[in-house]
Amino acid sequence: MCRHLAYLGPPVPLARLLTEPPRGLYEQAWRPRRQRHGTVNADGFGVGWYLPGPAAAAPEDAGESAAGSAAGDDGFARPARYRRAVPLWADENAVELFRAVTSGAVLAAVRSATAGTTQDESAAAPFRDGRWLFSHNGAVPDWTRLPTTLPSAELLAMEARSDSALLWAMAVHRLRQGEPPGGVLAAVVREVAAARPTARLNLLLTDGRTIAATAWGDTLWYRTGPDHVLVASEPDDAPGEWHEVPDRSLLLATTAGVRVIALRPVRTDSK
Ligand code: GLN
Repeated sequence: MCRHLAYLGPPVPLARLLTEPPRGLYEQAWRPRRQRHGTVNADGFGVGWYLPGPAAAAPEDAGESAAGSAAGDDGFARPARYRRAVPLWADENAVELFRAVTSGAVLAAVRSATAGTTQDESAAAPFRDGRWLFSHNGAVPDWTRLPTTLPSAELLAMEARSDSALLWAMAVHRLRQGEPPGGVLAAVVREVAAARPTARLNLLLTDGRTIAATAWGDTLWYRTGPDHVLVASEPDDAPGEWHEVPDRSLLLATTAGVRVIALRPVRTDSK
């Protein structure tokens, strides 16, 4: 399992989100407090960030906005990424970079690799397609034999050999068809949970303007302020009130607000 977070709000140094907060993502790499599976997240890390973009959408739009890199130039910068296969605490350059880089839209993760998956940085979140960044906190049992309708060309184009990269390929397929981000995550969770009822599927997706996330088997929290929102696997100890997202939920967020929607139970009796 991993820990991940996404932020939308006024531009801040990445360090403010990642390394400075007590019990923040940096510390969660070796001492997560609420992680339900695994103990340390030492198998790599990654951060993706956007240049400051246009004003945030209303929260009602988060589930419905046009999606995908196929949507063309809509004013969003392609996010930059920095990913490594080493523990976050072992990369002093990253800590320096985080002090120097400022952004108002960020997705970051620390990784605890599932056995049998790619160990290099290609398997470290965030995964990217156009303006989208994605992370998965969890595991899909027997993922190499997961039934999927994905075209083989898209399977072969997977960024890494891991369950998370497969989930991302499934999500990208839907995003490219213009499905809204919340609908995409819900559909991927339903499809995978129907075939693998014990899968843990905490997904996190952003285009730098909206955040969609699922709580499905591990912890998910959020914190809002007048002009920002932070969604994370677990709270840090920076000032502000955190709210826990119930398991089996979809979260949709912009800087204007957060909606949490219960995901319907998945029927598995036909499997
Ligand atoms: N199973 C994924 C991987 O191996 C995600 C693991 C995570 O939650 N740590 O990268």
